[in-house]
Amino acid sequence: MSDRPTSDSPLIFDRVFDPRHGERVAVSPLVARVTANNPGPFTFHGTNTWLVGTSELAVIDPGPDDPAHVAAILAAVGSARVTAILVTHTHRDHSPAAAALQVATGAPIWGEGPHRPARPLDLGEINPMDASSQGAFRHDRVLGDGDVVSGPDWTLEAIATPGHTANHLCFALAEEKTLFTGDHVMAWSTSIVAPPDGAMVDYMASLRRLMARDDRLLLPAHGAGIGEPLAFLRGLEAHRLGREAAVFAAFRRAAERPEYRIEKRPALRGRQGMWALVNEAGAVLKRGHELGPVLAPVERRLMKLVEG
Ligand SMILES: [Zn+2]
Repeated sequence: MSDRPTSDSPLIFDRVFDPRHGERVAVSPLVARVTANNPGPFTFHGTNTWLVGTSELAVIDPGPDDPAHVAAILAAVGSARVTAILVTHTHRDHSPAAAALQVATGAPIWGEGPHRPARPLDLGEINPMDASSQGAFRHDRVLGDGDVVSGPDWTLEAIATPGHTANHLCFALAEEKTLFTGDHVMAWSTSIVAPPDGAMVDYMASLRRLMARDDRLLLPAHGAGIGEPLAFLRGLEAHRLGREAAVFAAFRRAAERPEYRIEKRPALRGRQGMWALVNEAGAVLKRGHELGPVLAPVERRLMKLVEG
């Protein structure tokens, strides 16, 4: 078994990206970025903060709590006016600077809702994802799927894309057929879908939602843009399905062992049960792109779950 994507939908990651931290980098007539200086294993070169519009601006993902980055955003805004602050989701590298940007501009903060896990926590379960989220995120206005925020020369539609987090939104810029994808789809890496905050079933459904669209360009919150969205999304789906098949196979091998007595845990039966295990296994899979080296620990983890 392999997690290689099928040949008709190759998944090629693009890791070529010059962040130009703190500078205003024009991307199109309506779009510019300012990349925060917060590089890391999960943020690549840092968080891309997107500025949309000419005289009145929407700012998408103000970024981490970093006064230097907020100052860089304000410098990039210049004599224009920020009229909306939009947040794709509430991870610490995306939403915390919204508060400082609001103090400086008076613009309302728009988001889907507070940070929350995708499933109820088990009794006594500690959420290992808490450290990565901004639990104190406060927004002024709620954006649901299909809701629109606009300025004189831009229209941004919220596209609900849960999976990476339960409250994840993408934003579609109608005037340029460009989709700001946050952490849902990125050119440099697969997206982390770690339970209990992330959910793989939701993630795959959100991926298919984007495949049904006809965006010309995807602009992620980390790294370079994606110029051929459908081919990349198909590759991403094939990659995930390949891993799913490998995890299911590991699960079946584990479940076949008589000592684990799967029938004692009816909740783990069938496809839903497998998905529950796949979600748990996501924590083990982490972000390695080669499944081989991680299969053994996944199998051990699945066995533990089945055993437990
Ligand atoms: Zn994130």
